[in-house]
Order: sequence, then structure tokens, then C-alpha cells
Amino acid sequence: MASVSTSNISPSTLDVPEPAGIQRWATEQGILILAHSYQDGFIQECAHFVGDSLELARCAAEEEAEAICFAGVHFMAETAKLLNPKARVFVPDLEAGCSLATSCKGADLAAYQEHLKQKLGQRPVTVAYINCTAEVKALCDIICTSGNAREVVGSIPEDRPILFVPDMHLGGWLNEVTGREMILWNGACQVHELFSVDTLRDLQAQHSGSITISHPECPKPVRDASDHVLGTAGMLRLVKQHEDKTFLVGTEGNMIYRFEQEAPQNRYIPAPGASCACNLCPFMALNTPEKLWMSLQERGPEVMVPDELFESARASLMRMLAL
Ligand code: SF4
Repeated sequence: MASVSTSNISPSTLDVPEPAGIQRWATEQGILILAHSYQDGFIQECAHFVGDSLELARCAAEEEAEAICFAGVHFMAETAKLLNPKARVFVPDLEAGCSLATSCKGADLAAYQEHLKQKLGQRPVTVAYINCTAEVKALCDIICTSGNAREVVGSIPEDRPILFVPDMHLGGWLNEVTGREMILWNGACQVHELFSVDTLRDLQAQHSGSITISHPECPKPVRDASDHVLGTAGMLRLVKQHEDKTFLVGTEGNMIYRFEQEAPQNRYIPAPGASCACNLCPFMALNTPEKLWMSLQERGPEVMVPDELFESARASLMRMLAL
């Protein structure tokens, strides 16, 4: 991860203000705080804007902030930098990565694209889920998020083969709903992959009349056992339309905080994982209130995108936003 590092102050020694105080201080300093919906409630409360990858990407592109503190994982901060090149983009913890992004290395993707070109007689269109590094974004043709993936895939001519990276579960779901037969990279989200259909069925039996919503990053048996397969923005829209319902939620556990804030009229129960009941992303959890507060004061650690990747990676993102 390219970076400019900061000091040796320990975050644990900091006296952290309440979320409203942090947000007010950041506003006075001209810092925009963006937080992903998978961040814990305290960090969501600090943020000027909370959203999914697409919403945060749009926000980074549209806001004219000179400084963005991105509470999320590394690829998201890279995306903000690509879309707002003049801003100084920094994160609470540079080590906050993502199993999906790690599963697809640029060199491996380039080699596979070349292999497919030889095999198919033409280079496949490469569609990359936004959960990938800038290096991978630079090698692909267009980016998608879980919220717009159907539209992105639908925009590609029927006669062109498609390579979809890095999430095999999202790619498998897209193959089902679009009727395409995309070639899939073998990556997965380590949080969503652990949802268990057996324990989900038990939960459904305990809560008759409940509605099960799951993220397309979940494996097919979990998706098939769900009433709705949606990205997080789609989930939020759905729960807002209901009153006094119980939802079984197959996505990262902190999303429930957002549901409870924005649609408190319903009840939300996290779908259990096979080995862990919490379903929290360990990478998102690296961003603590103390690290957030320290990063705001230091405006670092900063996230940079290497010059040689910048224009290609940005072009892939802009093609998505143009759709
Ligand atoms: S929840 Fe999954 S996809 Fe999202 S950042 Fe964590 S590991 Fe990556």
C-alpha cells in the first residue's frame, strides 16, 4: 500500500471527544469525513456522510473538499483519491485492507487476461468490482459496485466475452440475473463467505413472517434462501418501505446500526456465520475512534496512488460513473 506515514503517538493515549464534537472539529478544519456503512456506530456518527462504495465514490467526486478522512478500507480511500485527485485523502489505519482486494494481484490479472486472449481469440472485457486495488482498476475496462453491477454488465455488447473480478459470488449472482456467462475470478469476501445456510434456515424457522435480505457477496445457497439479494443501499431502501417487520440480515453486522438509525420501525437480526455469530469485518474494525481522532489531527496516514496507475484506474471508474 503506497503511503506517507505519520507519527509514533499511540492512539490509546488520546482523549477522544464525542462524535458530534469530532464532526464539528473536522468541519472547522475543512476535513470531510466519509464512513462506510460497515464501520461501527461511533464512527458512523462522526461522519459527514455514511454510505456504500458507490455513494461514497460519488460523494468523493462531487465534494470539493481539500481533505478527506476516509473511514473504510484501503481500496475505498484509493477510490476517493482517484475521483478527487486534488484532495489529501487519509485513513485511520493503513492496514485496513480487504480479502477481496488481496485475492486479485495486478500481475496475476494481467497474465490471466493474456491467457484468455490467446484462448478466446480476443481480449475479454474486464469488469472489476470496486473492491479491488488501484493496480487492478488500471487493468480493467470498467468498475461496478453491488448496487450498479447489473447495469454495468448489461452495458457490454452481448458478443463480447467478460472476465469478472475479483468476487466469484457476486459474479455468480450476476451470471444468474443477467443470463451472461462471465468468466469469474476466484476471490471472495471473508465475511460474507462465512454465512451459513443451515443456521440461516434455523433462524428463519424461529422467526416466521420475517424477511431475509442478503448481499450478493454471499454464497449461492445463502442467496437462494433469501427473499431479496441486494447491495447495502438497496437493503436500506427496502427496509424503509416496511413497518413493524423482522429482517434477517445477511451482510456485515454494522449495517444493522444504519438500519436502526434510518428505519427504526422494524426489527433486525444478524444472520449467523458458520463459525462466528458477529459477522463483523476485521479490516473495518481496525478503524477505532482513537485512530480516527488521531488521523484527523495529523491528516494522515495519507493514501496515494502511483502516477503510472492513476489515469487508467481513474478512467475505469469514470466509465462506471458515466453510466
Ligand atoms: S466486508 Fe468483505 S468485502 Fe467488505 S471490506 Fe471486509 S473483507 Fe472486504
